[in-house]
Amino acid sequence: MSFGEFEPTIMDNEAYGAAVDGVLADFEAATNAQERRAAVQRWDEMVRQTVSWESWVYIRFSQDTTDPVAKANKDKLDRVGPGWVALENKVKQALSQSEHRHEVEQWLGGHVFDIWAGDLAAFEPAIQEDMAQESKLVSEYMQLMGGMKIQFKGKDLNYAGLMKFREDPDRDVRYESNKLLWGWVAQHQAQFDRIFDDLVKLRHGMARKLGYDNYIPMGYHRMKRAGYDQHDVARFRDEIVAKAVPLVGKLRQVQSQRLGIEKLMAWDTSLYSPGGNPAPKGDAAWMSAQAQTMFEGLNGQMASFYKMMNDRGLLDLETRDGKSPGGFCTFMPDLAAPFIFANFNGTSNDVRVFTHEAGHAFQSWSCRDASIMDYVWPSYDGAEIHSMSLEFLTWPFMDLFFGDRADEFRWNHLAGGLTFMPYGAMGDHFQHEIYANPDASPAERHEMWKALEEKYIPGTNWGDIEVPAAGRRWLMIPHLFHTPFYFLDYVLAYTCALQFWVLSQSDLEGAMERYVEICRLGGKAPFPKIVQTAGMRSPFEAGCLDEIAAATERFLFPS
Ligand SMILES: [Zn+2]
Repeated sequence: MSFGEFEPTIMDNEAYGAAVDGVLADFEAATNAQERRAAVQRWDEMVRQTVSWESWVYIRFSQDTTDPVAKANKDKLDRVGPGWVALENKVKQALSQSEHRHEVEQWLGGHVFDIWAGDLAAFEPAIQEDMAQESKLVSEYMQLMGGMKIQFKGKDLNYAGLMKFREDPDRDVRYESNKLLWGWVAQHQAQFDRIFDDLVKLRHGMARKLGYDNYIPMGYHRMKRAGYDQHDVARFRDEIVAKAVPLVGKLRQVQSQRLGIEKLMAWDTSLYSPGGNPAPKGDAAWMSAQAQTMFEGLNGQMASFYKMMNDRGLLDLETRDGKSPGGFCTFMPDLAAPFIFANFNGTSNDVRVFTHEAGHAFQSWSCRDASIMDYVWPSYDGAEIHSMSLEFLTWPFMDLFFGDRADEFRWNHLAGGLTFMPYGAMGDHFQHEIYANPDASPAERHEMWKALEEKYIPGTNWGDIEVPAAGRRWLMIPHLFHTPFYFLDYVLAYTCALQFWVLSQSDLEGAMERYVEICRLGGKAPFPKIVQTAGMRSPFEAGCLDEIAAATERFLFPS
């Protein structure tokens, strides 16, 4: 079935509740392991149905945030979603406490009970209403961003359309486009601040209802983090400050020399090549065809996977008005297939986003027959290894997109990844401060961000562009609104992706074997175990960045 033909339906919460009670009654009444297993499988099929509907609604709404039907479905999802969480947790709790737990472990493995323990620690029926309110606020943020229309160069542009000019070779154009973007944010400042303030207060309130001092431990549970804690994360951030921040400083010097700019301003930082960063040499349809050739060269399974994605209409790549910004991949179990969403705007970032989301897509597809839905995806820290590593594993094929400028792309890609490390760590540090100080005012939050910039991205200069200069740049980071603490997962995963990059330079085939293996592992293991299976060093080991920082330095600044 193609995505266009897919019209999933969903039980109302009353029917779903009755069905869940039926499963639990059958599990209780069962007289043997086979019957108990059948009951759990029936429940898993219901979960897969809700996940399919949820993903479909999210895709449709993201494809057109102005479509009233899509919006009505999204509103419905926001309302009913927390009820599903309550019902799922009822089963998770019953199975966790069951005298037959050991028997279920023999079949599903023990890890699923660790996942469920985290889910149960982040939920009580008492917060169900708050969760519905939280989803509604996030939708409001998405609509605000999706509705962005800024006139520039005679066109009404959305976020992706405007971002294209961030790397324009003409410095005035870079400045003007930034000025317009942040002017738009200034116009909507009160709405951004109100949405975020409501989210922080709501999340703090939920954490208190669950018995936590603040949202941080609850946020970790919601991120399904296992095997490390806040202290490990803080040490990792310090490591980044020590190893990555000086390298970014060196990069900025090289960049300003290359561009012939004495004082690099914030609006110059996305441009690495003086004549303009290399862009893909064709439109979305052309890129999709090149991608097919790329996957055929890289891995047979990936090639057939990508052909399937194309044949079934599971890609929406080009930017359009009303489309939600950014890129993502989601999975529909009832289609046994993922969906890739992007906002191609003709820049090199299109290729980066594409290979990234294709990594997520290939991983979830590799786990489409997992014994339980919770094993289809790993937690985000693990999932981003699959996506970010594929960005690097596809390097040998970048000539297909950039022709004789592929080397420039590779250099820029690594440079961009390097600059993200301190930025991502900073976003994480910022969120710890936000949720440790839930009563801070919006103005105080902007001050917190500004203070952290000194540590993580020193020398950032926004000149007379007031909004980011006043510490409000983070308002354009959707993760801070929709999924607190997600931001660090990119940095954690990046340290592993760079290890894949290093390995692939001497042994691409071996790297791909390991890659496919952890894609198949999917959600069956927590982050530290995925890293171990990949044969990589953990980001929580002291000195974990030494080798990859040295390799990055050699590549970016050859002597
Ligand atoms: Zn990702």
